[in-house]
Amino acid sequence: MKNKIYYTKDYQAIMELLGTNSKGLSNEEARSRLEKYGKNVLETGKKESLFIKFLRQFNDMMIIILLISAIISGVISYYNNEPFTDSFVILAIVILNAIMGFMQEVKADKSIESLKKMSSPTIKVKREGKIKRINVENLVVGDIIIIEAGDYIPADARLFKCSSLSVDESSLTGESLPVDKNIEPIPSDASLSDIKNIIFAGTIATYGHGEGIVVETGMNTILGGIASSLSTDTDADTPLQVKIKEISKIISIIIGVIILVMFLIGVFKGNDLVETLMLSISLAVAAIPEGLPAVITITLSLGMNVLAKKNAIIRKINSVETLGCTEIICSDKTGTITQNKMTVKSVCFGNKIVDEIKNKHFINAMALCNDVIKDEEYIGDPTEIAIFKYLEKTGLDVISTRKQNDRINEIPFDSNRKMMSTIHVIDGKKVIYSKGSLDSILANSTRICINNKIEKMNDEYIDEIRSIEKQEAEKALRLIAFAYKEIDNTSDEAENDLIFLGIVGMIDPPRDMVKESIDECYRAGVTPIMITGDSLNTAISIGKEIGIIKNKKEAIEGASLDQYSDDELIEVVKHYKVYARVSPEHKLRIVKAWQNNSKIVAMTGDGVNDAPAIKTANIGIGMGITGTDVSKNVSDVILADDCFNTIVSAIREGRRIYDNIRNVILYLLTGNIIEVLLVFIAMLRGVELFLPIQLLYINLITDSIPAVALAFEKADKNIMNREARDNNKPFFTPFMISRLVISSIIKTIVLFGIYLFGYNLYGIDVANTMIFLGLIIIEMLFAISCKNIKKNIIGKKIFDNSKLNISLLILVFMQIIVFITPIRSIFRITSISFINFIEVLIPCILVFIINEVSKNTLNKSFKD
Ligand code: ADP
Ligand code: MG
Repeated sequence: MKNKIYYTKDYQAIMELLGTNSKGLSNEEARSRLEKYGKNVLETGKKESLFIKFLRQFNDMMIIILLISAIISGVISYYNNEPFTDSFVILAIVILNAIMGFMQEVKADKSIESLKKMSSPTIKVKREGKIKRINVENLVVGDIIIIEAGDYIPADARLFKCSSLSVDESSLTGESLPVDKNIEPIPSDASLSDIKNIIFAGTIATYGHGEGIVVETGMNTILGGIASSLSTDTDADTPLQVKIKEISKIISIIIGVIILVMFLIGVFKGNDLVETLMLSISLAVAAIPEGLPAVITITLSLGMNVLAKKNAIIRKINSVETLGCTEIICSDKTGTITQNKMTVKSVCFGNKIVDEIKNKHFINAMALCNDVIKDEEYIGDPTEIAIFKYLEKTGLDVISTRKQNDRINEIPFDSNRKMMSTIHVIDGKKVIYSKGSLDSILANSTRICINNKIEKMNDEYIDEIRSIEKQEAEKALRLIAFAYKEIDNTSDEAENDLIFLGIVGMIDPPRDMVKESIDECYRAGVTPIMITGDSLNTAISIGKEIGIIKNKKEAIEGASLDQYSDDELIEVVKHYKVYARVSPEHKLRIVKAWQNNSKIVAMTGDGVNDAPAIKTANIGIGMGITGTDVSKNVSDVILADDCFNTIVSAIREGRRIYDNIRNVILYLLTGNIIEVLLVFIAMLRGVELFLPIQLLYINLITDSIPAVALAFEKADKNIMNREARDNNKPFFTPFMISRLVISSIIKTIVLFGIYLFGYNLYGIDVANTMIFLGLIIIEMLFAISCKNIKKNIIGKKIFDNSKLNISLLILVFMQIIVFITPIRSIFRITSISFINFIEVLIPCILVFIINEVSKNTLNKSFKD
């Protein structure tokens, strides 16, 4: 820490030094500081410049081969005194392709960048006495920040309020145990881990809460000092991309060897060198799916955009693929399945339901053991907001009640204890107020307040309370219990020996359409599982209401899982779909048990303690609104609206994207196989069917344009009526292979037929032009076929993808130019008559129709 004053002096001195106070900076001051000192960001590594990005488009084996061949063919033209048309065309096509790739990449980067922004962390600050959430980038020195469990500390800050705040500083110090923080000044020679009154950027608040004055931001923080050594994280390839790259590599190697052999044979035989070379290049161009990796990346990033519009923000591009395989969704109840908008519906005082609470301690407990802040709106936990609003409705001024009874200490809520307590001085006596789940409060109560008199807790009372619990839980009410005790000097501030006050029951209705989403899950072979900290009966009522379970036997309490070993749990989890009174460790065990059943599991979570379960799940899902930074940071997907329905639509979208990628791969690879087969036939017959530039034109341009458009294909309407895809299944199933092989062979035969027909009737030049045109038309029609590789698309589906329609129109227009204008000389094609055109078109359309009609049979005969 550069300036030791920040931890050696009293916090008042720091505030004075930094020109701030506990109300925070003015908005004006904050803005001018931001302008003067810059954003609170770490400059990690340099960003790739656009020029480098453009150059990188050429860093591809295939492109390099093409460039070399352009040079060689240029040199040959030079010696033969011919024009450089070939070299120029190859160069032009390669550059055009690079520009297209570059533009797509920039666009994809931009959208990923803006997605990252959407999930970037925010922090509560006080400015002009008001609390608001701002993006951590906009923090400035002097800002007052409010830290809660689960927050990432966004800047170095000196604490001036602190209740049980502990911070995980392992990222800075390597120490894995959380450090308890306080606000006392510290000697100047303290080491980093001893500076307990400062919270450091990059560390995590794990418990409690506190307020601090920002003393350093951005690169001036301790983290900033070591950040220069941090590497930027780049997105790794998805499993599919890895597979495709491997396929491309294998094809390249095989082709390389074939070309070498062909070339050597040619040289030995004394064939024309130029011709041999050109033939080799044709083969290379024909066989390598140049456009494929780019098209897959584009499809995935387009998919990420669509998902973001549907409120699912993808943090790791891998998850787009995995989403489609999801078989189990473990979801929180509160806020994800329900609305998290709670309203108090009933109150029980002691052992009886009452209309109104008159007991002073009960009212105090509700008002004081409550962290809600009322500013322009209510800020805080929805459970507590419900209680706050209820008190206001009874006419109580909660804020002034709090002012009269200052909080002197507290034990914050955590989801393991399922309770929280605060300590106050009431009428000169210290009092502890506790609230929490009925079980935890009952477990710590030895006395009970009946008709404003304190009695010993006994079995009779407990039975009465339990029967009220049962009756309330059946109405799906969420129950919060209250208790208190006076603390004299002898007893400590522990949450035990309490006096039971009563229960508040609140309703938290399910979100709209959740029932429909659950239905959809069951149809799609996805098992929905609800996990909650609420009581068993409440959970069962909600579970039945939304259709997750029919029978209460399918619900279990978290504590009951403790009796099973991890191995036993693998079998046990299959029987339950609702888990109640769960603590975060149970979530982790549930995820692992399902994974040991070889299932792909999605798990939601919001709290600090949920991080391990989220991380372990195949798809970790964070909550955009209520989630803590820690839980969001380990998740793969963030729900911008916290809503269960969004998970289901993300799965649907994931399936659609994968389907479309499959369609595109089939489309592009079929083209390559046809080309290779034809080049081979040509070799055998000693003729030249295609020039390299013709194949390049097809592979890089006429195939790529509709390939991208196929990414916009709508989902098959039965997409959620089939089982989830098995993630371990090879990409090339018998079905895919049959598709590839059969249709390539048929098309090759037809195209060669067209060539022979043309050759016999009109001579070699027209024949060459006819087969080139034929290949283009067959590919264009096949793009339409690949809208759906399993179902006949002739009918109303045929033109429902407007992007594809437009791309095909563009292609038609391009072909008119290439075949009818003098540009054709570049491609060495000759003019053909309308009759010739029809002679090409008819067999191509026949192939298209046969392909459509045979889909059903192929679909049945080969396993997918
Ligand atoms: P969930 O979000 O699934 O309801 P939690 O872990 O948040 O699970 O809560 C578990 C239980 O703890 C709740 O059912 C409730 O009884 C109790 N609880 C929740 N919030 C509070 C709170 N702010 N103060 C005291 N008790 C709470
Ligand atoms: Mg909760």
